[in-house]
Amino acid sequence: MAGLPFDQRDGEIWFDGKFIPWADAKLHVLSHGLHYASCVFEGERAYGGQIFKSEEHTKRLHASAGELGFVIPWTETQINEAKEELLKRMNLVDAYLRPVAWRGSEMMGVSAQHNTIHLAIAAWEWPSYFKPEERLKGIRLDLAKYRRPDPQTAPYKSKAAGLYMICTLSKHAAEGKGYADAMMLDWRGQVAEATGANVFFIKDGQIHTPKPDCFLDGITRRTVIGLARDRGIEVIERVIMPEEMEGFEQCFLTGTAAEVTPVSEIGPYNFQVGEITKTLMEDYDALVRAKQPSPAAV
Ligand code: PMP
Repeated sequence: MAGLPFDQRDGEIWFDGKFIPWADAKLHVLSHGLHYASCVFEGERAYGGQIFKSEEHTKRLHASAGELGFVIPWTETQINEAKEELLKRMNLVDAYLRPVAWRGSEMMGVSAQHNTIHLAIAAWEWPSYFKPEERLKGIRLDLAKYRRPDPQTAPYKSKAAGLYMICTLSKHAAEGKGYADAMMLDWRGQVAEATGANVFFIKDGQIHTPKPDCFLDGITRRTVIGLARDRGIEVIERVIMPEEMEGFEQCFLTGTAAEVTPVSEIGPYNFQVGEITKTLMEDYDALVRAKQPSPAAV
């Protein structure tokens, strides 16, 4: 992985229905998706050769495109099969998968009613770095300047490329100050999420997390809420104001890439890496590695 640019790697990429050499998976510079952010994507992980929640990710990809007003011309089944086949052809076991769909080049202006829709799927090795001693220190988060937009300002349910503009800006600003990531508030000033992961807090044995009413309701977020409830831990989805962070004991992030990542600091607020966080890290790790029944066996 050491620094080899993503356009110079070996292998194959599924591109508009065909497996093609990695280096040939190019699009024209006059693509609507590039200029006007008419582009949606997914981030998925495979553990031990099994894609975790593959069907859910594909459903969200289709739904994300729908939010941007376009239809991906491959069915969910075709996409799920393509992902499986890609992993096999690439000989990948622990991997990251990146499906991406975008409007093509027929029209180059704000309007792109008839542009063809393209879909590509790439996958690369992503070993699971589950080194508890490292991760249990917790990561440090800055407070972001940018806020998650009002649902009347942007199609927040979509995992759309355009929504990541403020995430990259916020993450760069945080990294520039030595932080790992940034906590974003929403347009009302309520706690929302990190730049690519959802956030949870713990106090008095209960878990508190913001309602996903203007940011992505992560697949990992929903999974971890289920794991906590399975253990009889109460999970409260509610409005959380930034000042409340003072009183929380523990904090963690969830996401396909982040998995369950403890947080030790958000701006002036400090957290312990406590038992509930550790338990959920372990439960999530066990779940993603559990042999999922094959669809035929269900
Ligand atoms: N919020 C944002 C902005 C993200 O990019 C992600 C990662 N996809 C998440 C939350 C977590 O989503 P998931 O658990 O589905 O990966």
